[in-house]
Amino acid sequence: MNKDLQDKGFLVTSTADIINWARTGSLHWMTFGLACCAVEMMHTSMPRYDLERFGTAPRASPRQSDLIIVAGTLTNKMAPAFRKIYDQMPEPRYVISMGSCANGGGYYHFGYSVVRGCDRIVPVDVYVPGCPPTAEALLYGILALQRKIRRTGTIVR
Ligand code: SF4
Repeated sequence: MNKDLQDKGFLVTSTADIINWARTGSLHWMTFGLACCAVEMMHTSMPRYDLERFGTAPRASPRQSDLIIVAGTLTNKMAPAFRKIYDQMPEPRYVISMGSCANGGGYYHFGYSVVRGCDRIVPVDVYVPGCPPTAEALLYGILALQRKIRRTGTIVR
């Protein structure tokens, strides 16, 4: 039946597939550069790597964001602001932790002022390793998040 309809210019699919397609194809991300990793995050959205070809565009407001990329060292002083920004994002929302510092404190793991991993403040969906991770690594992390959304694809998160 699907084939017959396709010949006539129609497409039959499920609502869940459509929602997941829209979700994965419009992952607007909140810019949250905290330290050196942010430079690689910026590279990812520049013409060489062109992150926007995957339908993701940077946003300056948490209200318009589906994804937050935590790029850099999260300090104790910044942690409450980070949590507040995350709380302001509408559901379904996703978090990518970018780099050793965001993943677990990195070089500053034993520092008095550093949070040892942003997953102590918010739930993290994908961890991108490296110090700093390359732009390609962050791209791979975003593709991994898209796969995760498709795999777990429920309407209510
Ligand atoms: S992981 Fe490395 S590059 Fe990234 S913020 Fe920490 S020290 Fe800087």
